[in-house]
Amino acid sequence: MAELSGAEIIAKSLKTQDVNEMFGVVGVPVGPIAAAAQKEDIRYVGVRHEQAAAYAAQAVSYIKGRIAAALVVSGPGMTNAITALGNAEANCWPMILLGGASNLALANRGDFQVAPQVEAARPFVKYSAQCNDPRTIPVFIATAVREAISGRPGPVYVDLPGDVIDAKVDESEVQWEPRVADPRRAKVAQEDITQALDALKSASNPLVIVGKGAAWAQAEDEVREFLDKTQIPFIPTPMGKGVVPDGHPLDMSAARTSALRNCDVVFLIGARFNWILHFGKAPRWREDLRVIQLEIEPEEIGTNVPTEVPLVGDAKAVMGQLNTALEAEPWEFEDNSEWTQSLRAETEEKRERNQESYQSEELPMGYYRPLKILDDAMPDDAIFVCEGENTMGVARTVINSHHARARLDAGTWGTMGVGPGFALGAAVANPGKRVLALEGDAAFGFGPAEVETSVRHRLPITWVIFNNNGIGGGLDEIDYSKPIPPSILTPDVHYEKIGEAFGAPGYYCETPEQLEEAIQASLAIEGPSVINVKLASRAPRHMAKFAWLTRS
Ligand code: ADP
Repeated sequence: MAELSGAEIIAKSLKTQDVNEMFGVVGVPVGPIAAAAQKEDIRYVGVRHEQAAAYAAQAVSYIKGRIAAALVVSGPGMTNAITALGNAEANCWPMILLGGASNLALANRGDFQVAPQVEAARPFVKYSAQCNDPRTIPVFIATAVREAISGRPGPVYVDLPGDVIDAKVDESEVQWEPRVADPRRAKVAQEDITQALDALKSASNPLVIVGKGAAWAQAEDEVREFLDKTQIPFIPTPMGKGVVPDGHPLDMSAARTSALRNCDVVFLIGARFNWILHFGKAPRWREDLRVIQLEIEPEEIGTNVPTEVPLVGDAKAVMGQLNTALEAEPWEFEDNSEWTQSLRAETEEKRERNQESYQSEELPMGYYRPLKILDDAMPDDAIFVCEGENTMGVARTVINSHHARARLDAGTWGTMGVGPGFALGAAVANPGKRVLALEGDAAFGFGPAEVETSVRHRLPITWVIFNNNGIGGGLDEIDYSKPIPPSILTPDVHYEKIGEAFGAPGYYCETPEQLEEAIQASLAIEGPSVINVKLASRAPRHMAKFAWLTRS
């Protein structure tokens, strides 16, 4: 039988596991893995920083519902990817990181780029192991994939020493593994379904929260059907947006504060009571809040607030069970209840208020009008990637999501710098669809070189930089007679020239009309372009009753 290299066995194993995309930065010892992957018809995208590789891989995993890979060199290459592992872990997203490692035969001799990689990855992943024999590579890859996609998904790490990658072995000696089956969608007992519906029926102010666990579970059809059947008001979390299209008559996002504070029974669908939902505690929620929790991870049940009805199972399967029960015994929440009417009135009022901001003639521009221009211009099937403190916060209220898994942001970890990698992943995972990568200027600074990757791979990414000269806002001028404030950046940087330097058209916009023209020009181009939007350095957000981050 033919001889195979470790690299070829890795590529074949990945292909068997349905890994069809790999993002990486090559060098010693992983170059042969990238080459072998291309021979196996795995799409390899070379990026400019390991973090972007791992962000792109996790974005593809989330969007496509299986798993993609990132490939990094040993030592600093691997450690550069650890923040992205942490991000995937926090978001409950799968991905597989493959790290080159120093040669086994040179252990303790001061080999090139030695690092304790398996240990370094471990706190952030579901599985971290070194493969030290080329014949067992398929077992390590299959185990890693099984761990990543089962139960609550998460990232995994496989460490690959140079001499394992380069070793040649006879094909017949390799311990080949079959494709890991997609996880079975776990259902709950019928009595749990009855209890959940009884709890909802007993509520006077019921509320559904749709989280990104529902998006990962691909439960969009079932969640929409459930809401249509029950007529219960709902609010999506930031990445739960789009599971039910924004603007649905029951979508009370614009009245979020009141909805959270006054609901008496909440039904969490794939969402956690962490900081994003203010821990489920007063004053953001009622003290006597009753909770129904649909969650794949048993340990998550009851976090911060006791759960009255736990539904431990898969969101798609369990929402299907609820719909079946509602078909047998229909029930709907009163549409003209005081609760629904009051939330609807507030929603309308807030939408009106935004209308005024959308017409603003102020220069330099604030956030609202440029965001509305982008929202109006983007095709409905576009994927929206967004980061930056104010940019992301305001965009959440203005940019509409029409589809599940079509909005990626800084997420549970609040990680700034995810945008460039996410944009690459979103474009690769959705051939033919437009990606809008909206970056605050500070966030964009973590990965502008990925614009080059988008040029090289002709990815249809419209990069838009909202430039307000700093982290959360800056200054119009720097006063060099004083210490430079920590949060400011150089005023009026021409980020569009980064696009031009890499071969993508660049547009600079100071007025709404210029932005309207630039976005149309950008959409007419198949590949990427960069639009730099000058905002007021202290552009305001609408005042909210509470600060965005609950601290006590
Ligand atoms: P969000 O940020 O949207 O509130 P979180 O990331 O906090 O969402 O929570 C998502 C939850 O969804 C996690 O607790 C995760 O365990 C859960 N989850 C993941 N996959 C599934 C699934 N298939 N069915 C139900 N829950 C899931």
